[in-house]
Amino acid sequence: MKPSAEFRKNLCDFLMGQRETSFPDIPENINPLSENARIWLKSVCDNTAERTKIIAARGIRLIDKGELTVQNPNKVAGEDRVEKHSDIHPLLSSVALLKGCGPQTAEKFSNAGIYTIYDLLSCHPVEYRDLRKILKIIDIQEGVFCCLCATITKRSMFSGKLFADASDETGVIKLNWFRTWPALAKQVTPGQSLYISGRCTVRGTFKTFSHPDVSIERPHYFFIRYSGETTGNLIKRFIPQALEFTLNHQAETLPDSVIKERSLWPISDSLKYIHNPPEDISSDDIKQLSRGYHNSQKRFAYEELLQIQLTMLSRKKAVTEVEGPVINTGSINGFLNLLPFKLTKGQNKALLEILKDISSGKIMNRLLQGDVGSGKTAVAMGACIVTALSGYQAAFMVPTTILATQQLDSFTRIAEQLNLKCAILTGDTPSPVRKSILAMLEGGAIDILIGTHSLIQQNVLFQDLALAVIDEQHRFGVSQRATLRTKSGFGNCHLLVMTATPIPRSLALTAYGDLEISIIDELPPGRNPVETVVIKTKKEKKQLVNKLSDFLSKGEKIFIVVPLIDTGEEKDRPDIHIIHRFFSENLPEAKSALLHGRMSNHEKNETIQKFRDGLLNMVVATTVIEVGMDIPDASIIVIIESDRFGLAQLHQLRGRVGRKSGSNAFCYLLVSEKPTADGLERLEIMKSCSNGFELSEEDLRMRGAGDILGTKQSGIMALKFGSLIHHREILELAREDAQKILTRDPELQTQPFLRQKTIDFSLRELFGAESG
Ligand code: ADP
Ligand code: MG
Repeated sequence: MKPSAEFRKNLCDFLMGQRETSFPDIPENINPLSENARIWLKSVCDNTAERTKIIAARGIRLIDKGELTVQNPNKVAGEDRVEKHSDIHPLLSSVALLKGCGPQTAEKFSNAGIYTIYDLLSCHPVEYRDLRKILKIIDIQEGVFCCLCATITKRSMFSGKLFADASDETGVIKLNWFRTWPALAKQVTPGQSLYISGRCTVRGTFKTFSHPDVSIERPHYFFIRYSGETTGNLIKRFIPQALEFTLNHQAETLPDSVIKERSLWPISDSLKYIHNPPEDISSDDIKQLSRGYHNSQKRFAYEELLQIQLTMLSRKKAVTEVEGPVINTGSINGFLNLLPFKLTKGQNKALLEILKDISSGKIMNRLLQGDVGSGKTAVAMGACIVTALSGYQAAFMVPTTILATQQLDSFTRIAEQLNLKCAILTGDTPSPVRKSILAMLEGGAIDILIGTHSLIQQNVLFQDLALAVIDEQHRFGVSQRATLRTKSGFGNCHLLVMTATPIPRSLALTAYGDLEISIIDELPPGRNPVETVVIKTKKEKKQLVNKLSDFLSKGEKIFIVVPLIDTGEEKDRPDIHIIHRFFSENLPEAKSALLHGRMSNHEKNETIQKFRDGLLNMVVATTVIEVGMDIPDASIIVIIESDRFGLAQLHQLRGRVGRKSGSNAFCYLLVSEKPTADGLERLEIMKSCSNGFELSEEDLRMRGAGDILGTKQSGIMALKFGSLIHHREILELAREDAQKILTRDPELQTQPFLRQKTIDFSLRELFGAESG
């Protein structure tokens, strides 16, 4: 079978970007990002040493023992990890190294995602209780966690339960356990003086402790709890050993320079403080520890964010060093002259950045951000057109068929005049048409191919793809982005990804930290902010109907958006049909139609075309219209149950209107029957804010990173310590430092620990996201 060079490069890009010639040829029908690639590797190479050589060369050490079929690449038996990683860094030794941690315990740990001593120590306590003061029985308050010292005076045991009385000079308490074990029964004997800690309840006249912790020795000053009932206890048991191990090995994981410059705590001090707070810690410090904001914890937030930045930046660096097709951008004026408008300053700047990249001889890897309606398409189109005029092919991938059809229209209008051929490929393309498109594509007769996920199917082959554009990037997975790129006959091509709405900088640096970023920071001239009104009461709703009637008679076009197609279980909520009927009955001048995901693409397109042409003046739709739909003269949008939508989605929806210069557009946000407080807060934010960049920050605050990016891309975002909201400053510092470190030491040769962590991150993203 023909070797696939793209394939290799692609996989390498994901890892440290190292280019190796000894990588065995992967059959073309196997997706490098799939489970099958791993199984394949195992099947072609049964010699562990050989496989180790192949994979370790690009740093895939975690799977070099042949564990290629496991779901989680990190999930390798404990001993393997000792051999492989203890030489990289002592903290990467397996937990199996700890005394008392046999195969069964190691298995339990690995089920909880804990493989190394570093993993173990990274499980920070979720609760700290202060046991420094030993109370007298008389001073104990109900419900407050406390520690006291008392002598057992009485005890009884039956059917596995244990009951006892204990007293000091101030009173008597009752203790009970509904489950016992030998060590406990041995301690709780009359005459024995014990330290008892727990929370007391008052039953009748007696203060009672259920399942308290008891010990003969004075307990540690703090009661510390780790997350997970059984793993929590397991972690607690092994932490002291792991701490000792760290101290003995002086196992710092960050470069000294960084620790000094950023005034971070050394790892052993941090870990000791976190897992075993000092006796004289202030109650303020203990509070901060519980919240995760203590300085001892800050270093881990920094470390985590640094690891991600190193991953992203080394990936970025690896890619920017790759040669790419040289596009002659001189023809851009021909395109600009055909545009029906003049580009804004922001568009011009972004376009120039892109043109500079694609003519540089190096591969472009760029993210284009801009608010809804800022005109990202025109910029991307310019790049596609000059690429095509240079004799190469361009691909433009969008998430839906409707959008693909719309983009084909706008591309064709301009491309035709330049004698360029555009085509569309979607799931709907009939088989014979598809065949001829594929043939033309391979033969080079198509210059620009627009389409959906269909573009990344295996049998879609380009003659010389030089530019891949991905619109509404958040709808695609990380690997899809990479796969489109592999379609290039050069082994690599320029890549431009666009977001639907802006994402916060902290998130962009993290999730898209491997890309250059262009920002369109203004809207085309004459755009007035869409006036946003929240509609709560029945009276307001009635008035709205009258207003809509006025709008229609003035010739305006209206979108009505409803969350549900049909109510199904939720009978008390309105669905698209009920709403459609309501507006049709109350607005006789409406020429309306439905638009939703259950209609065929043909029906959908027909409806949209009629709406565009003015044969319809009202569309009652689900969120199918959210994605990029461009009907410039639609100026009113009514969103039913709007509090149920997220901020980004509302902003997207609102962006469907007011796309024409000088128009006065309106967005009516109707409140549902039972709105949540969060839902109402979102509507208030929408009312006062029309800037997508600001909204995205609010969105991050309200929802968190994972939700904004969507599950497909949130693999890398499962932050343990760092927060993209609280640690923004740290993130910026970490990025700066990562840059410095990589300039000095691009392969991280002097930082084996960090090197391994960047590999782990890539693997998690690559395999974790795929198998999950
Ligand atoms: P988005 O950035 O949300 O993808 P689009 O690319 O769909 O935005 O553009 C929104 C609308 O603005 C389209 O109708 C487009 O034709 C128009 N447009 C884009 N750039 C300009 C400009 N410089 N001047 C006037 N209208 C523009
Ligand atoms: Mg768009």
